[in-house]
Amino acid sequence: MTFESLGLHASIIKALTDAGYTQPTSVQEQAIPAAIAGKDLLVSSQTGSGKTAAFMLPALHKFASLPPAPVGAKTPNQETQAARARGDRPRFRPAQPKMLVLTPTRELALQVTTATDKYCAHMRRLKAVSILGGMPYPKQMQLLSRNPEILVATPGRLIDHMDSGKIDFSQLEILVLDEADRMLDMGFIDDIEKIVGATPATRQTMLFSATLDGVVGNMAKRITNNPQVIQIAGSATKHENISQRVHFVDDLSHKNRILDHLLRDVTMDQAVVFTATKRDADTIADRLNIAGFAAAALHGDMHQGARNRTLDSLRRGQVRVLVATDVAARGIDVPGITHVFNYDLPKFPEDYVHRIGRTGRAGRNGVAISLVNHAEGMHVKRIERFTKQPIPVDVIEGFEPKKSAVPARSNRKPGGWRPGDNRGGARPTGAGGGRNFSGKPAGAGSRPDGGGYKGARSGDSGARRSYGDR
Ligand code: ADP
Ligand code: MG
Repeated sequence: MTFESLGLHASIIKALTDAGYTQPTSVQEQAIPAAIAGKDLLVSSQTGSGKTAAFMLPALHKFASLPPAPVGAKTPNQETQAARARGDRPRFRPAQPKMLVLTPTRELALQVTTATDKYCAHMRRLKAVSILGGMPYPKQMQLLSRNPEILVATPGRLIDHMDSGKIDFSQLEILVLDEADRMLDMGFIDDIEKIVGATPATRQTMLFSATLDGVVGNMAKRITNNPQVIQIAGSATKHENISQRVHFVDDLSHKNRILDHLLRDVTMDQAVVFTATKRDADTIADRLNIAGFAAAALHGDMHQGARNRTLDSLRRGQVRVLVATDVAARGIDVPGITHVFNYDLPKFPEDYVHRIGRTGRAGRNGVAISLVNHAEGMHVKRIERFTKQPIPVDVIEGFEPKKSAVPARSNRKPGGWRPGDNRGGARPTGAGGGRNFSGKPAGAGSRPDGGGYKGARSGDSGARRSYGDR
């Protein structure tokens, strides 16, 4: 399957070639023709599967195929200037976008805008702008005055502009809700309903979500019209290109020592360390910087400018370790991220899937490591039940936990993680994981006198080998 065979406009194909995309991903293969045909879409597909292009390419195709604006037609900004030149009081004209993409976070909105700029690089007269909380109003007014065809926005700030009459959705043709489940989790439901209510009923609606059940499903039904449902994989997505494992820790100092050790892994390019609180993100980033890692924190208490600068440094490779909270890291797409660490486990199993999806982007391989207190065994089990995948327990020689895990009371399923399996410093389930990768047990703990560092890495090289075999 090629992008040409999906019927996309030549200027888009050219941009995709520039971007190094050779063939559509599965979600793109299904969504693009349906969207070009004008259908509403409900899509669930795993993170990193290329959903942005799945909704943006057909939209751009539609705009590329429209007749050009009449000669001499002025943008609101030009009209204002012309009025000023005539000495008239400029008449205020709200922006009239053709497409609106709603995203839960500012970072995701910026990423969608950047991707859009890339996909429409060879199209003339098409503007995509982000409307975000945290951005200065004058700057946003200026962006809106250029009457962009495409708005990418977080719901809260968009509502502000709608309320003050800066945006008129009467010409809207396409509405996209990206990561709809997360927007609802974040309490945006009323804002979304209000925004949808301000758009024409004739619009095309595309909704993307990790799950289409429950509240999201109900909203999806209300706002779409005879939608085509595309489910590439359920919420229990198998991140098969991501090697997952759990390390048990006795206490905070043990956790910190293991993290420092793992961050020195030579196979690591860049890493995201997830913490439960903003404060921990700051503290750990500070501590890692002192320890000599190029680390930076990213969380919701930071100003937008600081968040953008941090993400830019991450993209440029100046930051190697990003210490982040869930909301701030949602949707981060940086190919250099080889490792994700759960310094704290996420509250919800869904977040685990989103977190580990920060690595292994666009078909690359990744490593996801959770540092878990012995009492958190049930939490790991819940994640395993959600992902329908056992997460092997690993032990690094020289960093063995002293205690054994507190056995969970629930019924244990065979093949899953078993509390207590790592007793005595050996690594039985971990060895199971090792077998998955290299075809034979690669237990660091069972290696005679390998030396902690070397022993630990031999397991990783097993993992690397089998990636190549896939
Ligand atoms: P999702 O929204 O599903 O998490 P994204 O749209 O952010 O995924 O895409 C993930 C990464 O994959 C991005 O870096 C994007 O540039 C890349 N990508 C998307 N589609 C393709 C493709 N067809 N070929 C190669 N890379 C792609
Ligand atoms: Mg996405």
